[in-house]
Amino acid sequence: MSDPRQRVPGTDRVLTHPEVAAAADRLGHRLVKQAVHTAQQRARDGEITVSAVIAETLAALPDSAASGRPVLNATGVLLHTNLGRAPLSEAAVDALRRAAGTTDVELDLSTGRRGPRGAAALAALLAAVPRAEAAHVVNNGAAALSLAATALAQGREIVLARGEMVEIGDGFRLPELLTATGARLREIGTTNRVRLDDYRAAVGPDTGFVLKVHPSNFVITGFTSAVPVAALRGIGAPVVVDIGSGLLHPHPVLPAEPDATSALADGADLVLASGDKLLGGPQAGLLLGRAEIVQQLRHHPLARAMRVDKLTLAALEATLRGPRAPIEQALRRDQQSLLRRAERLAESLSAAGVPASAQPSEATVGGGGAPGVALPSAAVVLPARFAELLRRADPAVLACLAHDRCLLDLAALPPEDDDGLRRAVLGAA
Ligand SMILES: *Cc1c(COP(=O)(O)O)cnc(C)c1O
Repeated sequence: MSDPRQRVPGTDRVLTHPEVAAAADRLGHRLVKQAVHTAQQRARDGEITVSAVIAETLAALPDSAASGRPVLNATGVLLHTNLGRAPLSEAAVDALRRAAGTTDVELDLSTGRRGPRGAAALAALLAAVPRAEAAHVVNNGAAALSLAATALAQGREIVLARGEMVEIGDGFRLPELLTATGARLREIGTTNRVRLDDYRAAVGPDTGFVLKVHPSNFVITGFTSAVPVAALRGIGAPVVVDIGSGLLHPHPVLPAEPDATSALADGADLVLASGDKLLGGPQAGLLLGRAEIVQQLRHHPLARAMRVDKLTLAALEATLRGPRAPIEQALRRDQQSLLRRAERLAESLSAAGVPASAQPSEATVGGGGAPGVALPSAAVVLPARFAELLRRADPAVLACLAHDRCLLDLAALPPEDDDGLRRAVLGAA
């Protein structure tokens, strides 16, 4: 009897199979070759038949050369940092594709000369916030802060209330970032209270700027007082406001969340924000404010190290000019329609033998803003064991465990995702 291992098809033979060759064109030779080797090994080990090597190779191939997998966000946290914060709009995704090749990002096609980088994205930002005299974009909110601190306060003081010394998440502490730039922190007030007199007493010739930071992921209640931006007008130093979330205008659903236009109207000289929180765009740090200050930041040597790529500029412009971003749609979903969706899903799952029900729930904006705000939502309720099964399902789903049950909160998901959610649950059951 011949050794079956000798009949395992050779690598070159598998690689010339038309479907395998097409996959290699799409995913890269190395990745496909690895899948071939794995399938061959399984055949040698007797786990699959020799004739199944090609089918096994094809089945094991990923959808994409990148390993990141889409995840349905059923957590009820609209901006989930571990899921990449804001999902992009179709318009922004389309813009990314178009920007991926060679583009006019730094070229004026009408003259053939070099043009200002990202001019269209900056124009879109200024059109969205006419209060700002000038705008600049860097890699993220943290970069915006460190650029401002370096250019405006290196070797000098940043005046900051103790209650605004925020840790954003994953150990990112804003005060540490600020002092790493060579600026000194001048802490004023206490954890719960700060007064205008504290600011007045702290500002002097050594002040680089006064910083106001939005405590975007916690609330302090009780005996508290803070000083609004408007009260700091004429304090004797530039006022920089880190609003965090990236709202450009007051939001009807989140009335307490700071926004760029209001901060500028209140007298802020510079406003800093993230692009991938409530603005709903790509990761970016937005700087909006007085022309003279923005110019100073833009021309600082460090600005080059924080420069955003053409993909970010394209996605940002499309987010600003395009239709409502997914996060904006999520904020505007009403509980009745969410509940109807949850009921429909629960019915269809029950009909397929999965113990499911629907109930009202509460969603939150997440680490990106509006701490303490509960958004009326609805969820499909499943036995707790589903939480883990769904993480490994296809499509992967991140659910929320509460009171020993698995909740699929629909607030962050558009109705188009209900079908994927249903498939994932049925596949996991
Ligand atoms: C999120 C946040 C930041 C950091 O922004 P990134 O874009 O994550 O770098 C800074 N300040 C505040 C108030 C924030 O909420």
